[in-house]
Amino acid sequence: MKKMMKKFALAVACVTTVAMFAACGGKEDEAKNNEQANVIKFGTNAEFPPFEFVAANGVIDQYDGIDMAIAKQIGDELGKTAQIENMEFDSLLLALQNGQVDAVIAGMTIDPERAEEVNFSVPYYTAKQVMIVKEDSTIAKATDMADKKIVVIQGYTGESCVKDMGYAYEAFKKGSEAIMELVNGKCDVVVIDSATAQKYVGDNEGLKIVEDAEAFSSEEYGIAVNKKNTELLEQINEILTKMKNDGTINELSAKYSEQ
Ligand code: GLN
Repeated sequence: MKKMMKKFALAVACVTTVAMFAACGGKEDEAKNNEQANVIKFGTNAEFPPFEFVAANGVIDQYDGIDMAIAKQIGDELGKTAQIENMEFDSLLLALQNGQVDAVIAGMTIDPERAEEVNFSVPYYTAKQVMIVKEDSTIAKATDMADKKIVVIQGYTGESCVKDMGYAYEAFKKGSEAIMELVNGKCDVVVIDSATAQKYVGDNEGLKIVEDAEAFSSEEYGIAVNKKNTELLEQINEILTKMKNDGTINELSAKYSEQ
């Protein structure tokens, strides 16, 4: 009897170990499965109009915007179905590194720190940080923010800009939440990317954009790919270059900025 119990315990231990290994290999397996299933999975944070937002009828499922249309075309040209995984902006590069997604398209600024962790495609859009303030605000340049209540979005380049300037700020998880703070008079200024700022100012009464080209240098958006996946990076670069040269990206920007 004792022997049988021992054997049983051993069997249980084996099964558990196998299951554990299977669970650990999960993410990599997922990436392989995607390849086999002819799927290209893009990670994004659908809180960044006009680049990515949730809509009733998106270009990929419920996801719409400039980036989503680019992702769709990349999928089409590679003969794959483009799928979107929507997650927090802060989690995107980790998801890319552990194989949960194949690429990240999220209005993401190419910067040296991020480029240590992932590879970036050729740039596809030029933007800059701007300040959104109430129409009657006295803020006219970045240094005017010194004694004001500043709001940024967590993990965005706007946060690093304000941090580098040495000003105190509060960070919100979503651009829409930051704008509500401003609209409700709970802060004086929101620092965020230009095209998104234009969208928010268009959608909310009583706000204006203040630019300061000396304080905020221009930024370029790129698609991020796992450092190991150089083949996909080359394919994406080729498609993006074509879409830039034939005017597709300009058309998409115009279309989604007007909406
Ligand atoms: N361009 C900014 C950045 O890369 C914001 C991007 C975003 O919110 N999607 O940090």
